[in-house]
Amino acid sequence: MSSQTEPLIVQSYLGGKWQTGSDRGAALVNPTDGFTIAFASSKGLDLGAALDYSRRVGGPELRKLGYAQRAALLGKIADVLAAKREQWFEIARKNSGNTKADAGMDVDGSIGTLKYFAKVGAALGDSNALADGAPARLARDPNFQGLHIGVPMSGVAVHINAFNFPGWGLWEKAAVTLLSGMPVFAKPATSTCWLAKEMVAAVVEAGILPEGSLSILCGSPNEMLDHLQFGDVVAFTGSAGTGQKIRQHPRVQQQGVRVNIEADSLNAALLGPDVSDGSASSHFFVREVVREMTLKAGQKCTAIRRVLVPADRAAGVASALVAALSEVRVGNPENEAVGMGPVVNGQQRKSIENGIKSLSKEASIRYRPAKFTPVDADPEAGAFVPPTLFEVANASQSSLVNDLEVFGPVATVVPYRDKDDSFAIAQRGGGSLAVSVFSEDTNYLADAATALGSSHGRVLLVDPSIGDSHTGHGIVLPSLLHGGPGRAGGGEELGGLHGMWLYHQRVAVQGSGTTLTAIASRAVEIPK
Ligand code: NAP
Repeated sequence: MSSQTEPLIVQSYLGGKWQTGSDRGAALVNPTDGFTIAFASSKGLDLGAALDYSRRVGGPELRKLGYAQRAALLGKIADVLAAKREQWFEIARKNSGNTKADAGMDVDGSIGTLKYFAKVGAALGDSNALADGAPARLARDPNFQGLHIGVPMSGVAVHINAFNFPGWGLWEKAAVTLLSGMPVFAKPATSTCWLAKEMVAAVVEAGILPEGSLSILCGSPNEMLDHLQFGDVVAFTGSAGTGQKIRQHPRVQQQGVRVNIEADSLNAALLGPDVSDGSASSHFFVREVVREMTLKAGQKCTAIRRVLVPADRAAGVASALVAALSEVRVGNPENEAVGMGPVVNGQQRKSIENGIKSLSKEASIRYRPAKFTPVDADPEAGAFVPPTLFEVANASQSSLVNDLEVFGPVATVVPYRDKDDSFAIAQRGGGSLAVSVFSEDTNYLADAATALGSSHGRVLLVDPSIGDSHTGHGIVLPSLLHGGPGRAGGGEELGGLHGMWLYHQRVAVQGSGTTLTAIASRAVEIPK
C-alpha cells in the first residue's frame, strides 16, 4: 500500500470477533513522509466483556492442553509468521520507518523467540503445573510433608506494549504466557499497532490457537484497567511514567493484580581503564556505541545513552565516534544505502528535539550535522533526527545525563577518573536494563559484573575474544533475563522457562507423603 492510498482501519480482535471502534480514532503515519496510513479506534468497545471472554473461554481451553502441546502451537505460530516475513518488513518500514536491519530485530526477533519457547517448552511434557523442589518432611511424623508447585494463573494476561517493538513486544510476552496456559490480551501502542494486528490476524486465520486465547486491542486503552480482577497479570513495557500510573491504578491495587513493569533506562557502555587507543577493544567499543545510537534510530529501551570513558581517553573516543557517526546516512529506509531511518512520528521527533534542548543546557554538543538533509525524503514532512553526540567535561557537570532518557539517536560521552568512579557513574542511572563493559582486563570485567549487578538487569562483558561474536549490547535474548531494577521498572521477563513464573501462582502444598508424591508426579521441574 502506498502512503497516499485510502487509510486502513486497524480493527481489534476481542471476544473471538474482529471489532471496529465507533469513531475514526488515532492516525498511524508513515514517518518517512508524514502521510496517514491507518486509523485505530477502540471507542465504544466493550472491554469488560472482552476480558471476561478471555478468562472464561481462552484460559480453560488452553489449559486442556499441557505445556508440550502448547509449545507445539508456538512452533506453528512461528511458521505462520515466517511465511509472511516480507509483509511484516514492509509494514515495519511504512509504519515505523524501519530499515531492514531495524525490522529484522522486530520480526526475526519475534520468530526466533517463539521458536526458542517451542523448543524448550517441548521438554516440559504434558504437565500443567511447575514443580519447585521435591516433597520434604515438615514435622515429627515423616509422613506429613510439604511441597511448592506453580499453577497457571486463572485470569487473563494483559500485555501493554511500547511503540518501538510492535512485533517482538507482542510475541516475547505471548510465547511465555501461552506456554504457561494463560490467555493473552495484547494492547500494542496505538501509533504502530498495524504490524501487531496483522500478525495476530495471520495467526487467527491459521486457526492455530484455542478459541479466546489470543485477543488484541488496537487504539486507546480507555477504561481497560477498570475491568481487571484478581488472577489477572499485567505485563507492561513503556515509559516509567505510564508504568507508575498502572501500578497506582485503584483497581490494580484493590484486586492485587500482579504487575510486571519494563520501563525506560539510562543504559551505559564502559570502556575499561586498560584499553589503549587503536586497540581491538577500542574499535569494538566505538562500533557498538554507534550501532546502538542508530539501530531503530536509537528507539530501543536498551540503547546506550551514556558512554563512559577514562578521562584521558575521552577526547580520542569522542573523535572516533564523531567520525563513525558522520558516515551514517539518514533517510528513507526504502533506499538500501540508508543506515538510519526516521523516528516513529512527528510527536516523537518533537520529544527528542525537546530532550536535546534540555540536555544542551548541561552538556555540550560534540556532533550534530550542521546541514542535515535526509536521503530521498522531505526533511519537513518526515520525522528525521540526525545522530547527536553530547559530551561533558566531568561526571558531576550534569545530573540530566543520568536522568533524562532521550528516546532517539542521542548519547553522551562521560569521562571517569578510575575503576570505582566508572562503576559509580554507571549506577547513577538509578537502575538500568543493560550495561556493557569493554576491556582486556579479566579482573576489571569480573569486578564490573558484581559491582554493577545490583543496579542492572543484564551485564555484557566484552573482551577481544568475543568482540565480533557477541550478540550486541541492546539485543534481548529469550534465554536470558530481560528487565532491570529501579527506574527500569523492577520487572523480569524471559530468562528461558523461568519467565513462566510470572504467569503462575506459587503455592505451598501440605499433606501426606502419598498425596504429595502424587501431586509431584503431575508437576514438572524446569530443566537446569
Ligand atoms: P508509553 O507512552 O508509556 O506507552 C506504552 C503503552 O502504554 C502503550 O501501549 C500505551 O497505549 C499504553 N498506555 C498509555 N497510557 C496508559 C494508561 N493510562 N493505561 C494503560 N495503558 C496505557 O511508552 P511508548 O512511548 O509507547 O514507548 C517508549 C518508552 O518505552 C520509552 O521510554 C522506552 O524506554 C520504553 N521501553 C521500554 C522497554 C523495556 O523492555 N524496558 C522496551 C521498549 C520501550 P497508547 O499507545 O494507546 O497510548
